[in-house]
Amino acid sequence: MYHECAWLLILMHFVFIGWKNLTPEEIKQEVLQITKDFRVPEFTLCINNTSLECFTKNTLRHRINMKPTWETQVVGNVTVCGDASHPSTPFIGQGGAMALEDAIILARKLHQALKSKESQISKVQESERIHKALLDFHQERHGRTYALTHKAYMVGVSTIADTTIKCFMRDWFFIPRAGRIGNYMEHTLFDVGKLPIDEP
Ligand SMILES: Cc1cc2nc3c(=O)[nH]c(=O)nc-3n(C[C@H](O)[C@H](O)[C@H](O)COP(=O)(O)OP(=O)(O)OC[C@H]3O[C@@H](n4cnc5c(N)ncnc54)[C@H](O)[C@@H]3O)c2cc1C
Repeated sequence: MYHECAWLLILMHFVFIGWKNLTPEEIKQEVLQITKDFRVPEFTLCINNTSLECFTKNTLRHRINMKPTWETQVVGNVTVCGDASHPSTPFIGQGGAMALEDAIILARKLHQALKSKESQISKVQESERIHKALLDFHQERHGRTYALTHKAYMVGVSTIADTTIKCFMRDWFFIPRAGRIGNYMEHTLFDVGKLPIDEP
């Protein structure tokens, strides 16, 4: 039977080592070398069955938006959302979810701004409303995206262990405690609401 699976290997370096320009074959050999002592034989099978062009290596960084995004990410009627606004490390699998939430909330804000019963609304007024909608959007989103990107980073730092003692602490103390649904998964209980629908 044929199965497909996605995998990635994350190494923790507290000191910035930069991106290394390795060939796919060199990256594959590096991955095989690092994982040779893993007690999961299927992992070697996955690596060997992965096409060579899929082997890439990049640096992961945690970016903190020091200033509120509504102060730095809105210029006139232009803004960014999703990863461009709040890139996340991959440890809690929420980057895509946050991008989709952004899309719905941004659409709702713009809909409110542009749904005007006034027939004589000028282009200037319209432009001001859009600008205000973008600021509102970031004000609504900042708390959640800031908290989740930070949580993702902390989960990553806590779960990537490179010594026996750290692995022991992670497997016997951190994961059993943090892994409880109430502690770890509450961020998924988020209702983004509905998209506005105009009656025809
Ligand atoms: C290995 C991995 C695993 C992940 N797992 C999960 C998960 O389990 N759950 C989850 O929720 N999230 C996950 N994510 C995160 C998720 O993939 C991203 O957060 C999400 O794709 C962000 O969406 P986005 O639309 O903001 O950006 P992107 O998906 O990056 O889309 C941006 C698009 O813009 C295009 N683009 C860039 N520059 C230009 C330009 N100048 N002109 C035109 N187009 C341009 C790019 O080609 C791209 O198509 C994972 C990410 C990775 C890397």
